[in-house]
Amino acid sequence: MTESQKPKAKSHELTIGWLYPDLMSTYGDRGNIIVLQKRAEWRGFNAKIEPISLNTSYLILNTCDLLFMGGAQDTQQEIVNKDLLDKKGEVLTEQIEKGIPGLYICGAYQFLGKYYKTADNKNLAGLGVFKMITENPGEKYERLIGNVIVEPKIEGLTQPLIGFENHGGRTYLEYKNERLGNVVKGFGNNGKDGSEGIVYKNSFGTYLHGPILPKNPQLADLLLTLALEKKYGEKFHLEPLNDSIEQKAREAIIKRL
Ligand code: GLN
Repeated sequence: MTESQKPKAKSHELTIGWLYPDLMSTYGDRGNIIVLQKRAEWRGFNAKIEPISLNTSYLILNTCDLLFMGGAQDTQQEIVNKDLLDKKGEVLTEQIEKGIPGLYICGAYQFLGKYYKTADNKNLAGLGVFKMITENPGEKYERLIGNVIVEPKIEGLTQPLIGFENHGGRTYLEYKNERLGNVVKGFGNNGKDGSEGIVYKNSFGTYLHGPILPKNPQLADLLLTLALEKKYGEKFHLEPLNDSIEQKAREAIIKRL
């Protein structure tokens, strides 16, 4: 096995595509972008942010090494859904299939499945790249809201994931072993089967807002490492950072729950 290397300022750079920052960014999702950029900078390499919205050409997606899309309410979701189906969905799917790493939160996560049925019974076709469906049973059913703790089921994550969820949609995975993890506290994908999120190739779908990355630095570093490895075709090792403040925040939430 080749030895892993540290990213260097002059030779390594990542482009992070931030999908629909103006429409898809609830419950602090923007914080995820800040964390990715800062954690790269603290390791001495640059992460350039590329905002991608309705008026941006889909071609820009081909230049991204890491992708991020946050959550939204149904109204914004309908606007973005149309843009994805008409313009950007094909390239986005290609990038995911190619193994370009990405993080997709809540409403964004729902889009990548086969369909999302809204509270008022509209069926929004998804990209179908994640093998799952999402249905909102209607306004008379409770939304799934609160803090969440998840035991991750993937290599490279050894600590529980912590976040905050607020969704009406219930997601059901076709393949249970594709789950991101098991719910310890909270609702997760649907409040019934104990699963939370999905992992497909290098893409992560999850209901965890919060935002998720400041509370889960391990996941942020995993995404950066995957992106560097995919781009440069070598193994990378990120120097550990002093995450004592993040750890305190995590402990406070775990204690509260
Ligand atoms: N509108 C979706 C739902 O309620 C997603 C919500 C969100 O992204 N927070 O299920």
